[in-house]
Amino acid sequence: MSDLIRQSAAVLAEAIRRREVSAVEVTTAHLDRIGAVDDQVHAFLHVDAEAALAAAAGVDARIAAGEVLGPLAGVPLALKDVLTMHGVPTTCGSRILQGWRPPYDASVVERLRAADIIILGKTNMDEFAMGSSTEHSAYGPTRNPWDLDRIPGGSGGGSAAALAAFEAPLAIGTDTGGSIRQPAAVTGTVGVKPTYGAVPRYGLVALASSLDQAGPCARNVMDTALLHAVIAGHDPRDSTSLDVPVPDVVAAAQRADVRGMRIGLVRQLTGEGYQAGVSQRFEEAVRILEHLGATIVEVDCPSFDYALGAYYLILPSEASSNLARFDGMRYGLRLGDDGEHSVEQVMSLTREAGFGAEVKRRIMLGTYALSSGYYDAYYGSAQKVRTLIQRDFAAAFASADVLVSPTAPTTAFRIGEKVDDPLAMYLNDIATIPVNLAGNAAMSLPVGLAAEDGLPVGLQVMAPAMADERLYLVGAALEAALRDQWGHLLIEEAPAL
Ligand code: GLN
Repeated sequence: MSDLIRQSAAVLAEAIRRREVSAVEVTTAHLDRIGAVDDQVHAFLHVDAEAALAAAAGVDARIAAGEVLGPLAGVPLALKDVLTMHGVPTTCGSRILQGWRPPYDASVVERLRAADIIILGKTNMDEFAMGSSTEHSAYGPTRNPWDLDRIPGGSGGGSAAALAAFEAPLAIGTDTGGSIRQPAAVTGTVGVKPTYGAVPRYGLVALASSLDQAGPCARNVMDTALLHAVIAGHDPRDSTSLDVPVPDVVAAAQRADVRGMRIGLVRQLTGEGYQAGVSQRFEEAVRILEHLGATIVEVDCPSFDYALGAYYLILPSEASSNLARFDGMRYGLRLGDDGEHSVEQVMSLTREAGFGAEVKRRIMLGTYALSSGYYDAYYGSAQKVRTLIQRDFAAAFASADVLVSPTAPTTAFRIGEKVDDPLAMYLNDIATIPVNLAGNAAMSLPVGLAAEDGLPVGLQVMAPAMADERLYLVGAALEAALRDQWGHLLIEEAPAL
């Protein structure tokens, strides 16, 4: 099999199953690719070649012995460094967790291992998943494989860049306000934020617990569905985990049919404020969906105008509480532990040096929003807006089966362009945040390159909670139509590496 790194996960898994190629060969090809390009891309913070090769050898041995393994057995994966993995460094892109090796696996990691997926290593991210460019990592930025001077999105820029650079065919991201979807959009890859509660958060280091959700990332819709099926499902160790049957996302990706579906264009998420080339590709994709047999309707979600404001009160409030656990006592970094400083001083020295500027900004914002006298005005109002957004979605889903919008307002911007302007950075998530506030499901998939800069454009599909399969029906249908039109998958065009 030629050029292993450019194959889809489904094709690789099938070849491994049939023993046309070994899992060790597939893993080696990806480790070699990481060796060749990751000093330029910097998608990975930690690569565990030895463990990956040992796991791959185990898969080969069991296949040789006649065992029937899962549909992704032997396929390599890049894991965002916000999920714990027993004994493997987990930093969340922060200096405060430097040197911490978790004593347990996250549920997602347990499920990946049980499915015999080969975890190559941990990927770079904005510190504690706060950001849209991966520039807020304490370990330096990740670069976009389409143009190394540009950002790969964030916070999960490492996972998306690993896919786009052909360092891994599968990746795991997490999405609190857009951190799976916006990186997918700007790297020309596919990313799904499942329904809140669909994928267990046990072992996912918390940013904002009422919004955080882990999800699958890949270079095409079917691979994303196969990975979704591996990680979704109830886990009693996460109190917000849904105890309902997992929708059959793989069957939906196979069906790839939008005939008779009503697809809603959200008035508040289209039109002004988007780069011309983004709007152009988005509108073309909508016409393709119509041509494929869907009915396009317009929907109004007036409260979406307040989503960003509400999110930047709710997220910092929850984060300020969640990040209190990083006190220099329990994990990673500890400064001033020399017998001359009080416990409070050790905590303060550690947090001062261990957290970056964006994390401190949000801790301060959140502490303020929750403080007595301001709680009702800020946090309380934001929660009311959240309810209004949920109602807007409910009304929209009464007249549409799914909603669509561009995923991000622009293509990948230049490294350094927005890093000193928090509001400009926050505005990247204008179209992705409402879904998190409502707990719904959404996918970003590539729909072409913007005319003015030749960079990938993503389209967002949004579905009601627990109807994740609709994302795959629409995403797979659109992807197939685009492939027919252009004769290839977009990503095969990809990077100048
Ligand atoms: N960019 C958003 C933020 O900075 C989203 C983060 C996320 O989804 N983890 O909060």
